[in-house]
Amino acid sequence: MNKLFALSLLILWGCATEHQKPVFSDLNKNGKMDLYENPEASLDERVGDIIPRLSLEEKVGLVVGMGMNIPGMSMAERKDKVQGAAGSTLELPSLGISSIVLADGPAGLRIDPVRDSLDTNTYYCTAFPIATVLASTWNPDLVYRVGQAMGNEVKEYGVDVLLAPAMNIHRNPLAGRNFEYFSEDPVLSGKMAAAIVNGVESNGVGTSVKHFVANNQETNRMQINTIASERAIREIYLRGFEIAVKESQPWTIMSAYNQLNGTYASQNVELLNTVLREEWGFEGLVMTDWFAGKDAVAQMQAGNDLLMPGRPDQRQAILAAVSNGTLNEAVLDENVRHILKIVVQSPSFSGYAYSDRPSLKANAQLAREAAAEGVVLLKNDGTLPLKDSSVKIAAFGNGSYDFIAGGSGSGDVNEAYTVSLVEGLGQAKYLVSGSLREDYQKYIAQEKSKQPEKKFFFELLPPIAERPLQKAEIAAHARESDLALITIGRNSGEFQDRTLDGDYYLTDAEKELIRNVSTVYHAEGKKVVMILNIGNLIETASWRDQVDAIVLAWQGGQEAGSALADVLIGAVNPSGKLPTTFPIAYEDILSTKNFPGEELPGAEEVMMGPMSLGKASGVVYEEGIYVGYRYFSTFGMKTAFPFGYGLSYTAFSYSGLALGSEFFQDSVYVSVVVTNTGDTEGKESVQLYITAPGNAMDKPAIELKAFSKTRLLKPGERETINFSLGGRDLASFDSGRSAWVIEPGEYVVKIGASSEDIKAEAKFQVVDEVVVEKVNRVLIPNRAISEVTRK
Ligand code: BGC
Repeated sequence: MNKLFALSLLILWGCATEHQKPVFSDLNKNGKMDLYENPEASLDERVGDIIPRLSLEEKVGLVVGMGMNIPGMSMAERKDKVQGAAGSTLELPSLGISSIVLADGPAGLRIDPVRDSLDTNTYYCTAFPIATVLASTWNPDLVYRVGQAMGNEVKEYGVDVLLAPAMNIHRNPLAGRNFEYFSEDPVLSGKMAAAIVNGVESNGVGTSVKHFVANNQETNRMQINTIASERAIREIYLRGFEIAVKESQPWTIMSAYNQLNGTYASQNVELLNTVLREEWGFEGLVMTDWFAGKDAVAQMQAGNDLLMPGRPDQRQAILAAVSNGTLNEAVLDENVRHILKIVVQSPSFSGYAYSDRPSLKANAQLAREAAAEGVVLLKNDGTLPLKDSSVKIAAFGNGSYDFIAGGSGSGDVNEAYTVSLVEGLGQAKYLVSGSLREDYQKYIAQEKSKQPEKKFFFELLPPIAERPLQKAEIAAHARESDLALITIGRNSGEFQDRTLDGDYYLTDAEKELIRNVSTVYHAEGKKVVMILNIGNLIETASWRDQVDAIVLAWQGGQEAGSALADVLIGAVNPSGKLPTTFPIAYEDILSTKNFPGEELPGAEEVMMGPMSLGKASGVVYEEGIYVGYRYFSTFGMKTAFPFGYGLSYTAFSYSGLALGSEFFQDSVYVSVVVTNTGDTEGKESVQLYITAPGNAMDKPAIELKAFSKTRLLKPGERETINFSLGGRDLASFDSGRSAWVIEPGEYVVKIGASSEDIKAEAKFQVVDEVVVEKVNRVLIPNRAISEVTRK
């Protein structure tokens, strides 16, 4: 199937090359500056002046992308402006309309790092920490700076739009692309996405917030029909996108592969027009995900302006539909208008002389800072931070030497290097056992040489088995070292979801490694620290008691090892907190009952040319709004590590919680004082949860409504944290009335260091019901859902 995929891309690429040159360019310039060329004119005026000058063919040319080049294959007939970019739009030179270049993806820019043999330059990009790490920082200011740095690379490598951030909800830990996404919580996801967008776009380049919406799995991702209630859609799956759109007005949005309540996201006028544009005020362009949807004309009509990467048959279908009257040309004009508004703002249009020399050094430094701030300390009996560089370390686990910077697929960045844990410790002058390192490195090289060739460019090869270790070998290292580190690594990515056995659950060899190293080191009175170099959740409850400290490094990008060393040695005091709950058992997560859904009876494999697009299938989100901590907190379920949790090398106290008023009138102000009561400087992520009365409506026990991070507080130093809650923060979606409603009653503000560690509470009243916003009755499920409710 993988071969078929590559083959089909090749064929599609071949078709697209015919359209490479602007074939519709017969308009003449009149020698004077036209309105659309005038930089003084408004964007709307300029675009309005272009549209009447375009022929139907040119309009159709603009709404369908220029095809796709295949990474790793050199194709002489076609030269992309930026090699390795994911796609581009049509150029119309007679009107000075440039093609714009679109490239992935969430953890940094993804382009080919080396070009043809005559080009001696390299085009490496910075692999920043994955989105889940960024969310774990709980620090939108830092994430904004990461966005700024990504945008610098986008602009200086000649790209116009970064296909990021990705912000689907962590509905289930097995979803293969969770690493590209932020959190199980929409507020945290939305704030992080807005920060990235604002940072990237401060460079004058665009973003594409994706995948809109409910793209929560890879299995049958192009066929799956997601069935969810209006409330779950509005409160959980759309809410983060809504925050991102309202707080950052991104240049573009990418619609998702899946269907939502019976309609493909890219063909869904209620989603793309009613909700996104009319209700939220989105002004940019909507593009499809690559090869998404079925019907190009329906996509146009739904307000999906740009079809990516673009295929000749889509152009033909749109042309035919306009000719036979099934597609009104005015619809096409609107799609073109959205596209041109972005083109006219782009660096390509203004002829920006990009340098191919972004600030890689400074960006690597920032990647390290962000990776360190996203490290979550899950357990620590005092072993960390490491006392001083005289401590002798033995690093076990393949992962210690073969660090994973980020996941695979379109979200994989082509970075120049990845610093492993052992290299990071070495840079910090900590002594790591050389003989153990040599043995591991030899083993890893040997096993890698046995791996099969990749059958297609995004294929994720199976991980190599954990190096077997005899107790005697461990004992020898235990005698010569003071401390053991064990790294467990996990990778995942596009096209496949994770498996339970050997991925979510540790392999037998990994379990044995933890058991043996811990037993032997503890017998010597020495400590064991676990390092988790993972993209999403793994099982932890069965082994966590065996070790003395657990450091969740996630996948920290190319500087992951240096950042992790910063935390281990205490150069950085960890302040990361979990953006997603670690359950005790996988089955404790409600969505496990409905993941990844079911293939429809008799469903046949859908093909696009020779490429399989999976089978028609459906998944019902029976858990409704009870995703992540909303479920655990409401139904009294124990967690392994709760949402919002993370330890520090210092301690904080919370005091002086005060509300602006005892009654809610449009808003409520909240302030609380956080003091560093320990003896190390550190930062604290302060979380504001609300418990609503839940009389008229079913309400989760707590919901995150706001958060803030202190500055670096010195021992004894304090900071006052202020929050302001508005109507929408208190409202729930009432499907019966299609409205955001605040029910009357008593509301409790809960300030927490995590969702299970509430430090202070205060109450206020809502006297009368408030209908905050009435919206359209759309996105209604086409069948009944037996949804979980509290009552
Ligand atoms: C992915 C998108 C990505 C696009 C272009 C698709 O397979 O789902 O996230 O931006 O490819 O590479």
